[in-house]
Amino acid sequence: MDLAELNGLAVVITGASRGIGAAAARAFAQAGCSVLLAARSTEQCKVIAEEIQSAGGKAYATACDVSHYEQVAAAVAACKEQFGRFDILINNAGVIDPIGLSIDTDPKQWSQAVDINLKGTFYGVHAALQAFKDQGRGVIVNVSSGAAHHPLEGWSHYCAAKAGAAMITRTIHMEAAGRGVRILGLSPGTVATEMQIKIKSSGINPVSQMNPDDHIPAEWPAKALMWMCTQDAKEYDGTDVQLRDEAIRRRLGLAV
Ligand code: NAP
Repeated sequence: MDLAELNGLAVVITGASRGIGAAAARAFAQAGCSVLLAARSTEQCKVIAEEIQSAGGKAYATACDVSHYEQVAAAVAACKEQFGRFDILINNAGVIDPIGLSIDTDPKQWSQAVDINLKGTFYGVHAALQAFKDQGRGVIVNVSSGAAHHPLEGWSHYCAAKAGAAMITRTIHMEAAGRGVRILGLSPGTVATEMQIKIKSSGINPVSQMNPDDHIPAEWPAKALMWMCTQDAKEYDGTDVQLRDEAIRRRLGLAV
C-alpha cells in the first residue's frame, strides 16, 4: 500500500478521543499528515495530540460536539488556522446509545443519537464542502456500519442514522465528484473499541453475543481509511467500502 501521496496533507478526524478515530489520528500522523483531533473529550484528544507531537508529528486537539454545526465548522476552520490547509475529513464520531427496543426508548435520546450519527455526518460534509469549494479538491470519508444496510433489533436509531449517512455518501458523490471532491464510506465490521463493550453489556441482538476475540483491532480500519484517501481507492467513490470483504483486506495487506 503506497501512502506517499498523503504526506503533507491536513486531516480533520471527528471522534478522535478513542477507538477508531484515535487509531486513525496516529496512523495519518505517521503517514506524514497534520492531524486535527476533534471530540467532546478534549483532554483525551490532547493526550493523543501530545503523543503524536512527541513522536515528531503535527497534531492539534479541539473540542467539538458534532451535533452542533457551528462546532463542526469551527473544527474545520481550526485545521486551516493551525496547519494552513485542509485536505481530508474523517467523519468518524458516533454513538450506539441508547441500545434498547424502540418501545422502551426515550424519544429524546433516540433523537440525540440521530443528531450525532446522521446530522453530525451531514454537518461534517457541509463544512468540508464549503472549505473545499475554492481549492477544487478534497476527500471525505464517512465511517459507516453494516447497520446501514442490515436491520438489528435494539438499534433502530443507529440503523436508521447509518442508513441515512450512507445515502449522504451516495448523494454527495453525485453532487461533488464533478468539483474534484471525493466522498466514500467505510463499513469496518466489528472493531474492538468501547462501542463493542457497550454492545456486549446490552445483551440485545446477535452482535452482543459475539466473542470479543472476533473483533478486529482499531488499527485495521485506520489503515483502510488512509488507503481510501489515496487515488488507488478511487473506484470506490460514492460507496461503502466493506472491510469484511476479503479482496479489500488482501489489498490492504490485512489477514483474511
Ligand atoms: P468509540 O470507541 O465509542 O468512539 C466513539 C468516538 O466518537 C469517541 O471519540 C467519541 O468521543 C466520539 N463522539 C461521540 N459522540 C460525539 C459527538 N457528539 N461529537 C463528537 N464526537 C463524538 O467507538 P468506535 O468504535 O471507535 O466508533 C467510531 C465510529 O465507527 C462510529 O461512527 C461507529 O458508529 C463506527 N463503527 C464502529 C464499529 C465497531 O464495531 N466498533 C462498527 C461499525 C461502525 P467523545 O465521547 O469524547 O465525544
